[in-house]
Amino acid sequence: MIKKKIKKKIIMALAPVVLIGAVVIVIVCALVTLDFFGTNETDGYVEENEAYAEDYKNVLNQNIKYGNGYVSLSRILYFYLEDDQLSFSMIYSDNLDKETKKQKPISEVCEMPRYKSMSVCKTEELSDSSQSDEDVIKPFTAPLKISNMNVTSFFMEQRTVYGKFDVHEAWDLSSPNNTPVYSTCDGEVIQVKFPYSENKIDTSGGGGNQIKIKCEVDEDTTYEVWYAHLYPKSSKVKEGDKVKQWQQIAEVGTTGYSTGPHLHYQVSKDGSTVDGMSLIDFTDTNSETFVKPPLEPYNGLNPNLNGNYPNFNGYTPYQP
Ligand SMILES: [Zn+2]
Repeated sequence: MIKKKIKKKIIMALAPVVLIGAVVIVIVCALVTLDFFGTNETDGYVEENEAYAEDYKNVLNQNIKYGNGYVSLSRILYFYLEDDQLSFSMIYSDNLDKETKKQKPISEVCEMPRYKSMSVCKTEELSDSSQSDEDVIKPFTAPLKISNMNVTSFFMEQRTVYGKFDVHEAWDLSSPNNTPVYSTCDGEVIQVKFPYSENKIDTSGGGGNQIKIKCEVDEDTTYEVWYAHLYPKSSKVKEGDKVKQWQQIAEVGTTGYSTGPHLHYQVSKDGSTVDGMSLIDFTDTNSETFVKPPLEPYNGLNPNLNGNYPNFNGYTPYQP
């Protein structure tokens, strides 16, 4: 009887401790899920990416428009967050296969002397990461001649435009007005919407003049590609048309919710947006040869914050 009473007392005393412990575990799990503890790579894109956006766009523009190939921010930060002595451009270059112009499988990068001993290259870290170890298929070509374009916003970039915060689920490629826009794939035109007859910004105007093309790249994979802010009356296609890769469909403009001439290039698959740049094959010879000397690196100025539009040989950086 006495023993039973003691037992009951111990249970009563421990109950709050167990309860508090359980609550703490639940809260910590919830915070981890909500990425409370800082930057996290989730399925190839990086949350909380404002701090890296300008440096990343700089390195993108040193590479993409010269046709070197594409490396994701998630891949760069995978190494940079362990060793911030590494530069973005060094990591970018180390992660590109110079021949295929694709991002290397992660295990191949981890064999390089610079990365070999890093803890992110340990087997268990690699298997827990979202970094791909597969050879990726690139069914698309570029929507603009790539030496004509300047990346002003990358996929899933967190930014503020006209005072409003958004996560940009597309690529913004600035290029002069009337630059030809091409279909990235063989497909069917499913929407041609050209309500603007003047090439001007309308901050309540969404995508402005726009075209949507559906591309079935194989029997399991269909993409929908959205081209927005197009130049008035520039559409070369109509709804229901079949188009070929590299067929010109329209011209760059600045109609709708835009801050200057650029193409908003957005890709979705099964109703969700995906990284359109990761689908582009940079070895495609139509992408143009890169004979121009390098332009000044993108300097990261955000005209939406300071009203200053720097000029890069006619390119106006940073448009929604
Ligand atoms: Zn955009």
